[in-house]
Amino acid sequence: QTEHVLMDETAIRRALTRIAHEILERNKGFENCMLIGIRTRGIYLANRVAERIQDIEGVPAPVGEIDITKYRDDRSAEAALAGSGEEAAGLLEDRLQVQNKKLILFDDVLYTGRTVRAAMDALMDLGRPQMIQLAVLIDRGHRELPIRPDYVGKNIPTSRLESIEVQLDEVDGTDQVIIKGQ
Ligand code: 5GP
Ligand code: MG
Repeated sequence: QTEHVLMDETAIRRALTRIAHEILERNKGFENCMLIGIRTRGIYLANRVAERIQDIEGVPAPVGEIDITKYRDDRSAEAALAGSGEEAAGLLEDRLQVQNKKLILFDDVLYTGRTVRAAMDALMDLGRPQMIQLAVLIDRGHRELPIRPDYVGKNIPTSRLESIEVQLDEVDGTDQVIIKGQ
């Protein structure tokens, strides 16, 4: 199996700083915005970008979390039925938080787009956001749905046989992105 480092700590830091600036530029500040991290690593990415936004703008940047494991359309039908929107987005405090807000979803890797679709579904069940944008550290291609990210750390064209390993200090004790081949 081959392994290759795609991003080191410096590259990740620079990409997240750039994304923070891009978010502020596109939204003309951070008014009415909220970052939403998907599951484990998306949450840490959202938190890191929120820190930068606070430093740059001097305003608080709220971060919410979402766990859509029960919401994916390719899980078993039973598991899908078990997950209501409230439950899927259980870590969000209440529905008022998404109503009329501009939400910026964060995930580590974008692949088929099914996770993001499920996350949007869960968020819409909580209220009516004004807008949803998408930020990912890695876009590895192979979309199966009409979803494209607004903010990308790095585009990595992959084969389906390859996999991307995103390691973040908060969970993995180190910051790097590795591609693994067969
Ligand atoms: P999708 O739903 O777009 O097919 O896959 C995206 C979700 O699966 C993300 O939450 C991401 O964490 C995970 N994922 C898909 N492919 C990869 C990959 O190659 N590496 C990692 N680390 N996660 C992946
Ligand atoms: Mg994930």
